[in-house]
Amino acid sequence: MIKAIKGTRDILPPESALWSRVENTAREILALYGFAEIRTPVFESTELFARGVGEDTDIVSKEMYTFEDRDEQSLTLRPEGTAPAVRAYIEHQLQQESSIAKLYYLGPMFRRERPQKGRYRQFHQIGAEVLGSDNPAIEAEVLEMLQFFLKQIGIEDQTLLVNSIGCPVCRPRFLEELKRALAEKKVQLCLDCQRRSETNPLRVLDCKVESCQPVIDSLPKISEFLDEACRAHFDKFLGYLTSRQIPFTVVPRLVRGLDYYTRTTFEITSGVLGAQNTLIGGGRYDGLAEALGGPPTKGFGFALGLERILLVLQQSEKQVAAGPAQLFLAPLGEAAFEKATLLARDLRQQGIRCLLDFEARSLKSAMRLANKLQAQYVLILGETELQTGRYLLKRMTDGTQREVREVEIPAALRGVAVPVSQG
Ligand code: AMP
Repeated sequence: MIKAIKGTRDILPPESALWSRVENTAREILALYGFAEIRTPVFESTELFARGVGEDTDIVSKEMYTFEDRDEQSLTLRPEGTAPAVRAYIEHQLQQESSIAKLYYLGPMFRRERPQKGRYRQFHQIGAEVLGSDNPAIEAEVLEMLQFFLKQIGIEDQTLLVNSIGCPVCRPRFLEELKRALAEKKVQLCLDCQRRSETNPLRVLDCKVESCQPVIDSLPKISEFLDEACRAHFDKFLGYLTSRQIPFTVVPRLVRGLDYYTRTTFEITSGVLGAQNTLIGGGRYDGLAEALGGPPTKGFGFALGLERILLVLQQSEKQVAAGPAQLFLAPLGEAAFEKATLLARDLRQQGIRCLLDFEARSLKSAMRLANKLQAQYVLILGETELQTGRYLLKRMTDGTQREVREVEIPAALRGVAVPVSQG
């Protein structure tokens, strides 16, 4: 048997309906905040990610799906959405359209990580980018939008963590201190961190290995190294969160694994998730556009993992399953079947979800099937009903029956009173 590849998964009904609901809610809220959708290709030149994400990152150094095309060009399945969005922004000169561009994307990303709960090799992100502003108010607005989104889909157990990682002016002094402190404690670190302390010391702060934690707690804190401009930016950002009544925790060790981040970084975590508890990650990346050969462009954005959002929703009781069919049509006999096919068409065009039974079966067996499919109503079409033009509509929750004419069906399903006879 051929199976789905390790680290990938099929999204099946009824779970797929929950996916749609989350995606639709996200699209609506993003639109309320002025974001427009951008769809970029699933593969890009490898160089885009090498430059945009950074050679030293785990993503680029060991997690990318990279292959050589037939013309020997190196291509990579996108591991994230920000570099492609900024590439497109530069390529199509979107900065000329207006001073701020607000873009969002939604789709699969690919990273060859070790699969575990909440971590896959093909996963899905919704992300948004604000290009062309370094105002901390826009950062607070994006977080307000994310809080609104989480509330709308029914996720309440979540925590916002924030930090500032400075800028190319003040960060080098911190990195120097960090490297010095790490060199002293190198032997106490895990092998990955020993390597990172040379290549990408910020990433040590991100390490989840138990034995590294006491060392990480004792390391210098970036907040003590911020220059005046970065300090003022961060204070303003926190002030805007406070005035919006958005609770947050400042976490000095919160850094992002990607090189192009500057100043504000944030994560939204959920206690329900276990080890892979980050639902949303984001921050400011003022250096990215230039690193990709574009004009200097300030940027701020986030990406949320849909699989993790779904994991949280599936664990809470509030989840809404795929709506079962409103109406199951049970035709008895060939003539009734013909009538039912046309009736189903008319009702669907009026927005009524119908299921039509294609097998010839007895009324009893049709009712059993309707029950199994959790239909809310069953419309029985027999010989007599066809002749009189009055059909029997049965409400499955309580077994009540009523006689309805064709034109009355939509109103009856919407709960408008029609004469009811007990069945
Ligand atoms: P990142 O692009 O690494 O900042 O990740 C942003 C969000 O994407 C994370 O907070 C997760 O929710 C999600 N995510 C990242 N990597 C994976 C993965 N391998 N599997 C599932 N979700 C992921």
